[in-house]
Order: sequence, then structure tokens, then C-alpha cells
Amino acid sequence: MGKLDGKVAIITGGAGGIGSAAGRLFASEGAKVMLVDIDEEALRKTVADIGEDQAAYATADVSDTADTQAYVDATVQRFGGIDVALLNAGIEGKLDKIAEMPETMFDKVLAVNVRGVFLGLKYVMPAMSQRGGGSIVITSSTAGIRAVGGMSAYVTSKHAVIGLMRTAAVEGAENDIRVNTVNPSPIDTRMMTSIEEQRGLPTDDRSNRPMAKFTPLRRYGEPEEVAKLMLFLGSEDGSFCTGGVYMVDGGVSAGRA
Ligand code: NAD
Repeated sequence: MGKLDGKVAIITGGAGGIGSAAGRLFASEGAKVMLVDIDEEALRKTVADIGEDQAAYATADVSDTADTQAYVDATVQRFGGIDVALLNAGIEGKLDKIAEMPETMFDKVLAVNVRGVFLGLKYVMPAMSQRGGGSIVITSSTAGIRAVGGMSAYVTSKHAVIGLMRTAAVEGAENDIRVNTVNPSPIDTRMMTSIEEQRGLPTDDRSNRPMAKFTPLRRYGEPEEVAKLMLFLGSEDGSFCTGGVYMVDGGVSAGRA
């Protein structure tokens, strides 16, 4: 028996590193998964990998209202309702100190990472209420609880979604909707390689990653390790968890290695 038998999950950023790992894990636990992403090519591959009997995709820009309504409607039409939503799509943007950060870049990162989560909550929560409740997991970051130089837009966005999560947890409780964040430290995905490249750090030695030395466990996390926490919070295992900030960070928030 799977932990998500009979459940339907929406996963935004579902074609990316963490989202696709969650899609595979959730499907292996019995869920039907609707993967939502802006990258259609990658979506197609991920759905083929999971299997069309359990997975479908919707191409959408999560910062767009009509696209959000469309991916929510498509999920209800295809699978009959929504029980779990991973609001996980995000971008790192261009790294720059505040004085050099173009306003357009700040706005873009907030549009995807914050407005995208707001819209997801706004249109998913009513559908979940109709189902009698559910669980929403928002992907924040260790950058949601502390600063990283050169990443003002990203850091702001990941703090902001904790505020959205807490508000949604309070508002959703009467309809049995639980809402939490997961907060990863560096995870081995495209995004982390982009951040390393923008910082001029070496990316060739995969066994000795440059920012691992700041992590007490001395390595990057794997997308599957984040997906396992999402599964805990998304399933009945997390039935008394709402309004929480859940670190999955190899000890980063405890202190520097
Ligand atoms: P990723 O780049 O592999 O995945 C992000 C996905 O989001 C991509 O598939 C991308 O196409 C999609 N996306 C981007 N803009 C979108 C938009 N406007 N509409 C729809 N989809 C869009 O990176 P990832 O590491 O899997 O990131 C997933 C989440 O985890 C992000 O919110 C990220 O901020 C967060 N996170 C990542 C790390 C890390 O180290 N990788 C650490 C902490 C938090």
C-alpha cells in the first residue's frame, strides 16, 4: 500500500530537479501527479519517465493568473480533484549586489517565486476545500531564514513565502488544509550549478562541491532527500503538521561547519 493511494498531487516546477524527484516518489506511493512547468520539453520527458497512467502535465507560467487557473482546472478535470500541492517552481535570477541588481530582475524573481506561490494558494485552496481538505508544501530555502550576499531578490522571495505559508495555514485550517514549507540548503540540481557558475566557483568536480564546506554534513543534498520530506508533509504521516518551517539542510541552519 502506498502512502498516497487514491490521492492527486499538483507539482509546480515539476520538470525540474526537486519537482521531478517528488513526482517520481509521489507516483511510486500511489498518487496521480499533475506536473506543472514552463519547460514543455522537460515535462514531456518526465511524464514519459513516470508513465502516462499516473502522470500528466500542464505547461504554465506560475506567475500568470490565467495559466494558474488553467493548471488547477486541468488537474480537476483529468484526475477529479486535488489533495496535495507542491508549490515548488522557482528561479534564482541573476546574482548581483543590491546596488547593481536591475529592478527588472528583482521584479521577475518575485513574480515567479512569490506571486506564483500566492496564485497557487489562491486557486488550489478552493479546489482542496471541495475535496474535504489537503496538504500544501511550499519550497522555501535556507535563504528563507537567513541572507546570502548577492541574492537579495531570491532571499526576499524565500522569506516572503514563509509569510504566505503561515497565512494560508491559519486560513486553511478550518477546511482541513495543512500548509508548510520545506527549506533546503544546496541541492544538486540545475539551479545550484547556475549559482556556482554565477559566483565563478568550479563546477567540474561533482564529488567536491564548492559550497559543501559550509554544510555540517559536508555535501549537497539530493533532490530525492527533499522529496522524502515533501512526502511526509503531503501524506497522512504529517497529519498534525501545519504552519511549520521544515529544514532539510544538512545542518546549515544549526551553524557553519
Ligand atoms: P530547477 O531549476 O531544477 O527547477 C525549477 C523548475 O521551475 C524548472 O523546471 C523551471 O522550468 C521551473 N520554472 C521556472 N520558472 C517557472 C515559471 N515561471 N512557471 C513554471 N515553472 C517555472 O531547480 P530546483 O533546485 O529543482 O528548484 C526547485 C525549488 O527548490 C525552487 O523553488 C528553488 O528555489 C528551491 N530550492 C532549491 C535549492 C537548490 O539548491 N537546488 C535550495 C533551496 C531551495
